Amino acid sequence: MRLRNKPWAKDFMAEHPDVLILDPEGKKGRWTEEFGNDAPIHIEVGTGKGQFIIGMALANPEINYIGIEHFDNVIVSALEKAIEAKKPSNLRLMRVNGEELESLFVGSEISRVYLNFSDPWPKDRHEKRRLTHPNFLAKYEGVLKANGEIHFKTDNRSLFEYSLVSMTDYGMKLRSVSLDLHASMPEDNVLTEYEEKFSSKGHPIYRLEAQYQS
Ligand code: SAM
Repeated sequence: MRLRNKPWAKDFMAEHPDVLILDPEGKKGRWTEEFGNDAPIHIEVGTGKGQFIIGMALANPEINYIGIEHFDNVIVSALEKAIEAKKPSNLRLMRVNGEELESLFVGSEISRVYLNFSDPWPKDRHEKRRLTHPNFLAKYEGVLKANGEIHFKTDNRSLFEYSLVSMTDYGMKLRSVSLDLHASMPEDNVLTEYEEKFSSKGHPIYRLEAQYQS
């Protein structure tokens, strides 16, 4: 993703603390209070410009959603979209690194993790940065409820193959594995920005659901 410098990003983020959480670690164990209800919480790690997480929040008001993105210059685009969408009450955004999940949530606070078009990090020496590396799978497990799930979409075949192996070796159960999601598009599929871009170029979209086994 091209990063454009946005010197106004910090001030803009500070003006919307009702959507963009300014003290993420302060919410640990208190997300029910933050949302004002005990609905399940689904997070997206690497939310980018937010099209998916905002679309999901609008489509599923009975679920709470948190989009996590580690760049200011990217999360502000998600914040702009959230404002355009009139700040759905079941949506929050956080400018944090997904590596920090354990300092943001207590065990069992999350019901599902979405990973969409995660950066592939193709070089072996960068394997640990892939969001489906076993170190990340352990972090997700640490905040998910028992038998929690990861839903993963990508257009990158190598990352998909890597993730199939990584998740299976971790002991997760895979289901709904698709090598061409758009060939029979599920009615409830919410497109991400990258999904729109790559599917329009004719790339197949790979998808899977993986469940932790307790
Ligand atoms: N999910 C969006 C989509 O499908 O359109 C964005 C995909 S983009 C290729 C990947 C995004 O993940 C980038 O915005 C990147 O900054 C973010 N990202 C990568 N690693 C991350 C991490 N460890 N924590 C938080 N965000 C991360």
